[in-house]
Amino acid sequence: MYDHLLAPLDLGHVVLKNRVLMGSMHTGLEDRGRDAGRLAAYFAERARGGVGLMVTGGYAPNRTGWLFPTASDLRSSRTLGRHRTVTGAVHAEGGRIALQLLHAGRYAYHPLSQSASAIKAPINPFRPRAMRAGTVRRTIADFARSAVLAQEAGYDGVEVMGSEGYLVNQFLAPRTNRRTDAWGGTPERRRRFAVEIVRAVREAVGPDFVVVYRISLLDLVEDGQTWEETVALAREVQAAGATILNTGIGWHESRVPTIVTSVPRGAFTWATARLRPEVSIPVVASNRINDPDQAEALLAAGDADLVSMARPLLADPEWVAKAQAGRADEINTCIACNQACLDHTFRKKTASCMVNPRAAHETKLVVAPAAIERRVAVVGAGPAGLACATTLAERGHAVDLFESGPEIGGQFLLAARVPGKEEFRETLRYYDRRIARTGVALHLGTTADPARLGGYDEVVVATGVRPRVPGLVGADHPSVLPYDEVLRGAAVGDRVAVVGAGGIGFDVCTFLLHDASPTLDPEAWAAEWGVGDPATARGGVTAVAAPPARREVHLLQRKTTKHGAGLGRTSGWVHRAALQHHDVRLHGGVTYERVDDDGLHLTVPDTDAPDGRRAELLRVDTVVLCTGQDSRRELLAPLEAAGVRAHVIGGADVAAELDAKRAIRQGTELAARL
Ligand code: NAP
Ligand code: SF4
Repeated sequence: MYDHLLAPLDLGHVVLKNRVLMGSMHTGLEDRGRDAGRLAAYFAERARGGVGLMVTGGYAPNRTGWLFPTASDLRSSRTLGRHRTVTGAVHAEGGRIALQLLHAGRYAYHPLSQSASAIKAPINPFRPRAMRAGTVRRTIADFARSAVLAQEAGYDGVEVMGSEGYLVNQFLAPRTNRRTDAWGGTPERRRRFAVEIVRAVREAVGPDFVVVYRISLLDLVEDGQTWEETVALAREVQAAGATILNTGIGWHESRVPTIVTSVPRGAFTWATARLRPEVSIPVVASNRINDPDQAEALLAAGDADLVSMARPLLADPEWVAKAQAGRADEINTCIACNQACLDHTFRKKTASCMVNPRAAHETKLVVAPAAIERRVAVVGAGPAGLACATTLAERGHAVDLFESGPEIGGQFLLAARVPGKEEFRETLRYYDRRIARTGVALHLGTTADPARLGGYDEVVVATGVRPRVPGLVGADHPSVLPYDEVLRGAAVGDRVAVVGAGGIGFDVCTFLLHDASPTLDPEAWAAEWGVGDPATARGGVTAVAAPPARREVHLLQRKTTKHGAGLGRTSGWVHRAALQHHDVRLHGGVTYERVDDDGLHLTVPDTDAPDGRRAELLRVDTVVLCTGQDSRRELLAPLEAAGVRAHVIGGADVAAELDAKRAIRQGTELAARL
């Protein structure tokens, strides 16, 4: 079925067994020598799952290139032991692995940072020093030395990180390279640094070693590179000795989302397709590729020679093996939420995966066959209950899963209705299959009462949450609706006030603004985010042209902090910008007075008013309550009273700050213990 995806790739000195490259993902395990065993287990599991070539997280070639103080680097043979643990484990599973060489440049979060020019990045407080010509040469030599060390450590290759706005990319773009010496001033001189790194690396490692160059095909920042410059770079990098060109899209400071769930699948593969005829080495397509059919189609169309996926292989280490075995419908699909991977990385927490809490925790969260088979009832088929029930059944327990609704999914069913969150359906498809495969007995439309649960050895209460109704005067007015009813399709007027600006408030705004999901229309999406053609617009950025909003929407909160301050580090800004594109009016520091036939009455801050506040009436047709949730765990007390061994997980345990990451992890951890 996947002839192109599973076709071997002959690189001359080595044959990759298929066209899947696991892209670099910094897990945090790279930064500490004591985590080498965990890192080895993480990669070994993915090698066993059949990935053709894996790329490690980034290792700096010198101290100035550290992402943060004492972050991962490869500077001396003293650390080779820990690398050999990784490469040995990967090779034992028949896999191949390349080490990524990443110099952070002005993205380095420390005072030693350096760049082409002394221009501070908008996302980093540290101003870099401009590298002297001698430092530029030493840095090139450092890349070559690290590549040799990687070779000694047993890696099959290296990847030179030339994209995402890191140092090499900073040399390439006029935005960050204002030099007038031999390393700047013209496109030829700006690309000299990148080309000389590849040449030095190739000369140092010899011909029988993979050298991947990650090329920025779209910088997505003003004063980025033109397409002509990018093609010239690709050809020179090839001539300098690169084996493969991997695609990079967007700088970290770009205001265009490139990987979050609302980015259409394969949104940037057109750029790789355009590069491919310009070079004769294999090119890799990247960003928002998560599905074997999609990957096969783009390879069959000749858009690329390989596909790169990082997060999808965190979500399912057996992605390739399942595709190969005709079991693609069993893949645990990455839903591009970033919640446990990149949001963790940016907070210096070990990365994992929301839908697969074992990712990067393979040695800690072990799911082994149960010593004694038990009868277990799980009540509630939301993310927590689903994870728990299926893991229990995998371990050999006899599991009944009770769900009062007509289908599985809980809060995920609501999330999947939000434009841009279509991927959440994949998790439900995955659990549907996993329930069938593991033999969980699913009882839909069945409310499990305490009497029914008496005969089980263990009962897991995963009954989730209910929307919180605040003590708002007029909360029973017909214009007031809870968020779940709105997402299920209740009639909503043209002017709406959304009360509560947490994740759900933002989701509800998005739902109310669109007739159709922009994520499913790549051209509309590109226009909304100002993605242009780099042949005509430097960096591939152009003016934002969002379609008109379907409704007038107000988003309110009592706090005076930024709206959505608690959203994910790597996705919150996208949600805020999307609302801005559609003129959602943000109100902060409000006091809710009442709802009546006229609308929503508020008191709002006003520095001109004598007491700093004034009354305001929002003339809206509908008020949607997104004011958090309360736990549903009425079952617990009677079960405990009856002496039943009961466990509470997910939103039923703690509703505050509930997210599916905790729910799935808690469900899996409990199931691994019972
Ligand atoms: P939430 O984040 O707790 O937000 C609810 C908001 O309602 C609060 O920020 C609070 O803001 C307001 N509120 C609470 N009690 C209120 C009251 N009595 N009266 C008036 N306003 C009140 O909860 P959520 O939005 O329901 O989200 C639940 C969880 O799902 C969150 O942990 C979130 O991480 C997750 N989630 C995330 C996303 C995402 O990242 N895109 C999307 C959906 C859900 P004020 O006190 O300032 O008014
Ligand atoms: Fe994908 Fe979300 Fe898992 Fe990251 S946390 S790998 S984005 S599903």
